[in-house]
Amino acid sequence: MNELSVGKEILAHCNKCKLTLAHMVVAMKGPTEIDKVMCKTCKATHTFKDPSAKKAKPAVSKIVRSAKSSRGSSSRKISEPNSVVWERMINKATVSAVDYSIRTEFKSGDVINHPTFGQGIVERSIDSNKIEVLFRDDSKVLLHNKK
Ligand SMILES: [Zn+2]
Repeated sequence: MNELSVGKEILAHCNKCKLTLAHMVVAMKGPTEIDKVMCKTCKATHTFKDPSAKKAKPAVSKIVRSAKSSRGSSSRKISEPNSVVWERMINKATVSAVDYSIRTEFKSGDVINHPTFGQGIVERSIDSNKIEVLFRDDSKVLLHNKK
């Protein structure tokens, strides 16, 4: 988007028109620095002066930084619906599903068949009698290992 080259159209302040107008780049100082522009309105060629350049640069880097940080956090969990995560975990599971019973001891990674919630995968054991299970609709805390 920031690619600059001779022939590109940019907004610049025209000294003759006294306005910020569309200009065409006619000469470059470097890969990102414009030397001369031509006003499309009065056809005058002059040295490029961008009054917004000083303000625009830090604003752009700020946007990039915040976009990076939001990508770095667990945005995948937020953007993915529960059923997608559930499906992937079920497909990844190598163990066969076991019918849920309050007396059976389950551990993280176990696949269970629940009479009400359907197939679920044990995400973690909360304590010796509670497990967190991911079902298609939602994750639920179930009792287990009741002796
Ligand atoms: Zn002009």
